[in-house]
Amino acid sequence: METHLADWFKGTPDGIEAEAILRACVHCGFCTATCPTYQLLGDEKDGPRGRIYLMKQVMEGAQPTLTTMTHLDRCLTCRNCETTCPSGVRYGHLVDIGRKLVEERVQRPLGQRMARTVLREGLTRRWLFDPAMRLGKLVRPLLPEVLKTKVPEARDPGSWPTDSHLAKVLLLNSCTQGAMMPGIDHATARVLDRLGVQAIIEPSSGCCGALRYHLNDHEGGMADARRNIDAWWPYLEAGVEAIVMNASGCGVMVKDYGHLLRNDPAYAERAARVAAMTFDLIEWLPQRLAPALSPGGAGGSGQRPGTPGAPELAARRVAFHPPCTLQHGQQIKGAVERLLAGWGAQILPVPDVHLCCGSAGTYSVLQPVYSRELRDRKLAALQSGGPEVILSANMGCLSHLQSGTGTPVRHWIEWLEAQLPESPGAAAAPDSAAAAAPAAAS
Ligand code: SF4
Ligand code: SF4
Repeated sequence: METHLADWFKGTPDGIEAEAILRACVHCGFCTATCPTYQLLGDEKDGPRGRIYLMKQVMEGAQPTLTTMTHLDRCLTCRNCETTCPSGVRYGHLVDIGRKLVEERVQRPLGQRMARTVLREGLTRRWLFDPAMRLGKLVRPLLPEVLKTKVPEARDPGSWPTDSHLAKVLLLNSCTQGAMMPGIDHATARVLDRLGVQAIIEPSSGCCGALRYHLNDHEGGMADARRNIDAWWPYLEAGVEAIVMNASGCGVMVKDYGHLLRNDPAYAERAARVAAMTFDLIEWLPQRLAPALSPGGAGGSGQRPGTPGAPELAARRVAFHPPCTLQHGQQIKGAVERLLAGWGAQILPVPDVHLCCGSAGTYSVLQPVYSRELRDRKLAALQSGGPEVILSANMGCLSHLQSGTGTPVRHWIEWLEAQLPESPGAAAAPDSAAAAAPAAAS
């Protein structure tokens, strides 16, 4: 696509990147048909090609309007269009740049500004979010329906392993997952422990930065990234094997640290190393799992410590929802399904598996109507084969999907753990991931 960027933008780091992306687009429109918001709204400007045109106009000097902003806001950043695009257009990076330019030039209505500030500042601070979520879970039965769907039911996360191992990996000290669904980190740590690997959550690390970054606070998102790099660096120097992500939305962000901080001389090199050492759990686990534990020895009781009364963890009929951040953002496809099938799951076919569930970070709060519609469509597809349990790989998707169905929705690592042969003994430990973090990964 021919472009003539405005002088104020041309030659800047964002301008150079945006120009390369825009030039790769040949406006073929293949991406449009697979875009969830185009499918919902049928408007070219609510599809990737239309949004690319809108952003190009702004980058060439046109004054954006509230309408421009609305079309960009409606994008889920699911990156389905990147998977479809035959020209390799990196739409995700382009829309990050385009949204920031529009945000700087258009005054948002007050209500939207307030909502975004609350999300940006409230969700990323654990000292604020953790007690709020604890209280929410306590009074959940009394909450109005609209709030109840945002607060998962309280579940015992089970024990946190106490053994030290020579092999260590870092987990993210995530901003919301620890409070909303602590069982995911606990199950991950227990499975790793069974494999002789110690999971470490460094308390001085925190939100991956995606939340701020995708709310157009690029500086705030990069500050989160720098804080995590500083927190993790001593562990990497001490020989930690990997940074393992059990939330694909955070994983895709951390894998992008090298790109985001490429122009920061103080962090570029370390950011690239952190990104290179970051793996989704499904990328890292199978190679360790296969030699140590095999499905042949599986008990499959579905009743592990901390999962009393969770028959869905022993269920066999499974529908898997691959989050967009896994299948489009990280281009990891079919790996979870293969692993689960190897451990006895009957993976049911799901129509339109490439489409977003509508969760998309803060999208479910900021665009509730479209988000709900996409959720209901996704649930209809997931439930078409009659699953006993729906599994996924990202906390946001789990919580969003669960808000619309009585079918249990769990993280795949929780289901997998329940299939492993009984452990010789699982000691109770503090219900605090941070408490398990050692002073150093020596
Ligand atoms: S499929 Fe790719 S090249 Fe074609 S219009 Fe979409 S982004 Fe542009
Ligand atoms: S990121 Fe998703 S919602 Fe946004 S334009 Fe691409 S396919 Fe459509």
